[in-house]
Amino acid sequence: MQSILPLPTQPTKPGTSTGQHFWDTKDRSGSTKTIDSYSPADGQLIARVNVSTRADYDRVIETAQQAFTEWRQVPAPRRGEIVRQMGEQFRQYKRELGTLVSYEMGKSLQEGLGEVQEIIDICDFAVGQSRQLYGLSMHSERPAHRMLEQWHPLGIVGIISAFNFPVAVWSWNAMIAWVCGDVCVWKPSEKTPLTALACQQIIGEVLRNNDVPEGVSCLVTGGRDAGEWLARDPRVALVSATGSTRMGKAVAEAVAARLGRTLLELGGNNAIIVSEHADLDLAIPAIVFGAVGTAGQRCTTTRRVIVQESIYDDVKNRLKNAYAQIRIGNPLDESFHVGPVIDQAAVKNYMTTVEEIKQAGGRFVVEPGLLDGLGFESGCYVRPCIAEAQNDWPVVQRETFAPILYLLKYSTLDDAIAQQNGVPQGLSSSIFTLNMREAERFLAASGSDCGIANVNIGTSGAEIGGAFGGEKETGGGRESGSDAWKAYMRRQTNTINYGTTMPLAQGITFEL
Ligand code: NAD
Repeated sequence: MQSILPLPTQPTKPGTSTGQHFWDTKDRSGSTKTIDSYSPADGQLIARVNVSTRADYDRVIETAQQAFTEWRQVPAPRRGEIVRQMGEQFRQYKRELGTLVSYEMGKSLQEGLGEVQEIIDICDFAVGQSRQLYGLSMHSERPAHRMLEQWHPLGIVGIISAFNFPVAVWSWNAMIAWVCGDVCVWKPSEKTPLTALACQQIIGEVLRNNDVPEGVSCLVTGGRDAGEWLARDPRVALVSATGSTRMGKAVAEAVAARLGRTLLELGGNNAIIVSEHADLDLAIPAIVFGAVGTAGQRCTTTRRVIVQESIYDDVKNRLKNAYAQIRIGNPLDESFHVGPVIDQAAVKNYMTTVEEIKQAGGRFVVEPGLLDGLGFESGCYVRPCIAEAQNDWPVVQRETFAPILYLLKYSTLDDAIAQQNGVPQGLSSSIFTLNMREAERFLAASGSDCGIANVNIGTSGAEIGGAFGGEKETGGGRESGSDAWKAYMRRQTNTINYGTTMPLAQGITFEL
């Protein structure tokens, strides 16, 4: 592999990189255990990354605690200025980091670059937010009294991230948390540790140049253990966890046991309703991108298409034709649409699900399969497939993180919405229709029960300006835009008496 990240202490192949805890990139790990990072694109070992020990972790948390005492006193717009400079760094390294994301995670180069663009966008958003951490003022019921509500920094924010968006999810949390005055300890996915190290490197220069206290941005490497340390640690004020519903339930339980705060971004089972009033020239490409983009490994991937019965055969044939044009191959080669899934475990999951679909009575409209031979040596390339299925089958009810699309049929819109909502997850949804009544019904209180509901665009590809997240087993958290910043701060209500008497609220009298 060629050098793809021209940064100061770039990991070599296959060398030993450091499981860094601090932005200054000194190796402080006492660990001898490593994570081997293999690219699913070509199966090559990219680097070995040290795993943080419990002692490393405790040192990180102590340093973060110390940094918080300083960072919370830096004026918010000044913190925003530092985030602005980080955005500039990411602009400068967009191609290099996007390439590493694509190589380590396996998504197409376009999507890798798009992920870095999300970091840049959230930096821009956070800069503006740093001047808009608005509180409220209220009228007191007591004379010569004033009431207000203000927002203060929380403390340490633990960020646990998933492999499929190895850097963007961190930035959604970290950039907002930093302008809010918090410090961050990031535990990236053990499947994509290098991209996390690269991000620390990229922002390191900004932190150094601005004399930002060590510990504002920390990294701990490792698997589930390191995530559990964060979840159980009362020194961590907020745990923002992105990943499977299984992981989210475990984190929620551990954090609730200490009455801490969580922000959970978990699995989805997203559907597109295609009405007989749809513009199919819009719907078909949206379905295909939503189902096969990132090889079906987005939380917002389109997993179910619910089609009105009168156009069902037409939609099925168009999807078949569109899938026939999909080119699968190395994600760094821009002539391919679809890259590999993350690893052999993901391939096994895909294969097991395919068998389960067959056993349930599903019929494949586009056949599944594992690719081998030249260009597919990593063994991680699977065919995106489409199966005709029923919504209530257990296999359809769960999220399989692979490019498998279920084709479902409906007669009335009520039936379509009932199927769309009839799964345990509640992340993203959309309807394709040119009928205003149908669109508004879908967005109404009795419509989609998801955190994201779209009209005439697909389920994936959210913009950072809106609050991102979902309901039910998706966890209920909201990140990124709108007022998601409030999750990273503590609210304080203040009542000030500027008068000469001491009246009590609710007219209570108390005389000595
Ligand atoms: P995963 O749950 O296997 O791992 C995610 C992270 O959690 C990793 O860093 C892992 O080390 C850590 N972890 C695992 N078990 C833990 C535990 N018990 N306690 C603490 N930490 C633990 O998920 P994955 O395979 O990396 O990612 C795929 C999943 O993530 C899918 O379900 C996808 O829908 C979801 N996801 C959701 C969103 C969203 O915003 N809703 C975004 C991206 C991914």
